[in-house]
Amino acid sequence: AAASSGGLVAYADSGSDAAVQQPQLPPRKKVVVLGTGWGGTTFLRNLDSRLYDVQVISPRNYFAFTPLLPSVTSGTVEPRSIVEPIRRVLEKKGGEIKFWEAECFKIDPQSKKIHCRSNVGTNLEGNGEFLVDYDYLVVAVGARTNTFNTPGVVENCHFLKEVEDAQKIRRSVMDCFERASLPFLNEEERKKNLHFVVVGGGPTGVEFAASLHDFVTEDLSKLYPSIQHLVKISLIEAADHILTMFDKRITNFAEDKFGRDGIDVKTGYKVVKVSKDDITMQNPATGDISVPYGMAVWSTGIGTRPFVVEFMKQIGQANRRVLATDEWLRVRECDGVYAIGDCATINQRKVMEDISEIFRVADKDKSGTLTVKEIQDILDDIYVRYPQVQLYLKSKQMNGIADLVRSAKGDAEKESVELNIEEFKKALSLVDSQVKFLPATAQVASQQGQYLARCFNKMKDAEENPEGPIRIRGEGRHRFRPFRYRHLGQFAPLGGEQTAAQLPGDWISIGHSSQWLWYSVYATKQISWRTRMLVVSDWTRRFIFGRDSSC
Ligand code: FAD
Ligand code: MG
Ligand code: MG
Ligand code: MG
Ligand code: MG
Repeated sequence: AAASSGGLVAYADSGSDAAVQQPQLPPRKKVVVLGTGWGGTTFLRNLDSRLYDVQVISPRNYFAFTPLLPSVTSGTVEPRSIVEPIRRVLEKKGGEIKFWEAECFKIDPQSKKIHCRSNVGTNLEGNGEFLVDYDYLVVAVGARTNTFNTPGVVENCHFLKEVEDAQKIRRSVMDCFERASLPFLNEEERKKNLHFVVVGGGPTGVEFAASLHDFVTEDLSKLYPSIQHLVKISLIEAADHILTMFDKRITNFAEDKFGRDGIDVKTGYKVVKVSKDDITMQNPATGDISVPYGMAVWSTGIGTRPFVVEFMKQIGQANRRVLATDEWLRVRECDGVYAIGDCATINQRKVMEDISEIFRVADKDKSGTLTVKEIQDILDDIYVRYPQVQLYLKSKQMNGIADLVRSAKGDAEKESVELNIEEFKKALSLVDSQVKFLPATAQVASQQGQYLARCFNKMKDAEENPEGPIRIRGEGRHRFRPFRYRHLGQFAPLGGEQTAAQLPGDWISIGHSSQWLWYSVYATKQISWRTRMLVVSDWTRRFIFGRDSSC
């Protein structure tokens, strides 16, 4: 039933099928999911969709396996091989989930409605705008590329975020080679066209530069023998090093390898302007320098989407950069709204904010002091609620809370230590320094999607038994443990069949063996057998025939 209201087509989808067939059941709660990327898709795949009336809204009707996007830019992997139609994902759930290809442009948390606009056609009634109401909203819309308002970037640079971006880059690389081959160009012009600039020395920029280098040396140099010596790849990074989020050994290896490969790594340079022909960068020592370029890829980090910024203003988060949630991934002060992945950040509760409350709960005998035993009794709850405590003890090589207590009291007293509130505060005063922010990765987004789906699957059960395992009150009792991220390691492909891997426990491995680990991990992580087949056959084709250069 559609009703027009002031230019907006209101979509009323309240009569769910289950309510019709089984009138004795109350209608299922409405879950609306925004986004079909890593967060949203993982949530949907793990959700028990029989429990809810689920609607999915995204301007892209497919899921994209982003870690292989750099491989698409060089034709190692075909675009089709890394995307999975979202309707196929939903069909596997029994066809109970609805999908609308549209973009959300406004969230109204008071009336629990979202405003959407279809991007399929413009000849729709009311500009294709419609309203969807929700009981629970899962915001998984990812982030946008951040240009830091640098002039000329949007007009002249490529981004590497979506499948279309990777396809455009590939075409643009080929255009640069074909242009540089034209008969009427002089040497300078050929050089300009063959200067490829990558801005941003993070994992994406580095992997792209490496895969471009492979493409040029392994495939294009044979096809363009007369101009191959004119090719130059520059990687520009504002910080002192590339891959700063990795271990120092990996950073050094990468910088050395790029040096040997002839990739010009310019660290300490900030790009301040990009025009059609030149890229201008700044360094305190050299001042501004402008270099001609043929193609530039901008990959310097991510920012918040405009409609999420608007939403943050509405809910009192105007002074934040990223939408904040609690450790249960709930948007604060916003009933029924959850946020996962790149669009959100977890605001980890600080011990010092709750210290009096923790003291009160621990002091069972109301003596006004805490014994080591009293602290130990609630320690598991503290560790779950405040993971920074465990990290702090580990960083100080302390074996347990007793060490911390003794250090607060001075070593003299041993068995009968008791802390008053001031001493307790002093003992824990530094633990919050260990609060960690999670990186914007597929790994985090998918673990959050999985966690949230499990919470949703148990929500009814939780409502009937509200007494949760977490007894310390930050904001009420909780049935579910807070989200805990498990870091499984991270790769940095560096080209030439070499990859750096940083695995848990600071285990570092660099070289050809990690490249094979990389192949097997990314083959395993594919979301369907179809894409797995396609990706593996792309890799095989590349090994046998090389990369395709037609575009
Ligand atoms: P996304 O996956 O970006 O999904 C956002 C979804 O929201 C999309 O479907 C989008 O269409 C939709 N959307 C956007 N706007 C709206 C709107 N207004 N309304 C509704 N829907 C909307 N991470 C790793 O862990 N390992 C890697 O090797 C790795 N490599 C990467 C390589 C590249 C080139 C890139 C770009 C990223 C890489 N990442 C990697 C990071 C990873 O892709 C992101 O962290 C991850 O995609 C975040 O998931 P998400 O669900 O938050 O957002
Ligand atoms: Mg998503
Ligand atoms: Mg994605
Ligand atoms: Mg995040
Ligand atoms: Mg006591």
